[in-house]
Amino acid sequence: MKNIKNNIKDTQIHDYLNPEFIYIPIEPGYRIEVKENQHIRKEDVLLSSEKNNIYSPISGTIIGKSNSLLLNNKQMDFLVIENDYKEEVKKPKGAKRYISDYSKKEIIELVNKYQATSINLNKKVKRILINGLDKDPYEKTRSYLINHSSDKILETIDSLMNVLGIEDALFAINNNDTDNVINLSSHIGTYPNIKLKLMPDIYPMGFKSILLRNVLSKKQIDEGVMVLNVEDVYNIYTVLKRRKPILEKLVTISGKSVDNSMVVNVKIGTSMQDIIKHVCKVNDDKYFVVVNGLISGTTLENLNTVITKDIRSIFLSPIDEQKEVACINCGLCNLKCPMHLNPKYIKEHKKADKSKCIHCGLCTYICPSKINFKPYVGGSNEE
Ligand code: SF4
Ligand code: SF4
Repeated sequence: MKNIKNNIKDTQIHDYLNPEFIYIPIEPGYRIEVKENQHIRKEDVLLSSEKNNIYSPISGTIIGKSNSLLLNNKQMDFLVIENDYKEEVKKPKGAKRYISDYSKKEIIELVNKYQATSINLNKKVKRILINGLDKDPYEKTRSYLINHSSDKILETIDSLMNVLGIEDALFAINNNDTDNVINLSSHIGTYPNIKLKLMPDIYPMGFKSILLRNVLSKKQIDEGVMVLNVEDVYNIYTVLKRRKPILEKLVTISGKSVDNSMVVNVKIGTSMQDIIKHVCKVNDDKYFVVVNGLISGTTLENLNTVITKDIRSIFLSPIDEQKEVACINCGLCNLKCPMHLNPKYIKEHKKADKSKCIHCGLCTYICPSKINFKPYVGGSNEE
């Protein structure tokens, strides 16, 4: 594990909410609910499946389908919408004034309908753990969200506890996140059942399994705990208080090839190329792009992709001329792995058990020989 400092100085959240086009991936199992040249309003249903709907983030015209874009580095069809910049939206349905005015059944129905979180709110648990730590040391998305919306987040946690019958809540943040430590410490007294947990600034503390074992005992975990990250909580607030789908997303933009690191609010479906062209001040044309963490994230094969609700960060980094060399047997990859795995052994032995790997990327990051373990370590990329 390693302490790494963040380089974003700007404390504002910037907006990039008017791209010329929006691109919505047509994933397997989804039916197209609109026709070519059809005029649509913001929040109209574009695609539907047995379980849920995908809503339009803008008003405008359906242009048709494009197959030249990638989702998770895989080619697929995308629905293309041209923006009319009118933000025309159908009359909103009445939302209740307080979240605690909803029944448990109504909350679960609305949260599922608008996909505010993938976490099952119906599970009977004793406590709730709110993950307010950014997953990657260079990300600021969660920190900024807390900073700008702490009142909404605290109100939502408190109301969820009341309606879902949860006894207490732990709100974990980074102890170096000074503004939020001060802000939450002074407001949390209004909510006696929510306790602040200040966590050491150590990577990968923002990963769910690492945070859980550092905050709760095995007995407490076995008693039942629901883990929500602050984006989940904010999305639940939006869905219940405004009764509308999640159409926008906070994303950290950073990396050595960008002069204006920032957190930006963008429409889901905005193209990566538009963000880089209109938002980033790029200082070097020879860069590569990594999404969702400089250490644990995925390198994009090309920029023909879009913002989805799972993207938290975009990093532009100079192409590293340093090549991989032979292992010098320093033992660091083994010593630093938070799951006590031996990445070098895993790389060299196809049958080695790698199921506990959380894809934190630390082994690749710290290796002095520049060995890339990402193709060799398996496991799930947990939230
Ligand atoms: S083996 Fe997996 S869990 Fe261990 S450091 Fe590497 S990526 Fe992280
Ligand atoms: S960190 Fe790199 S150089 Fe050191 S033992 Fe692991 S693979 Fe070898």
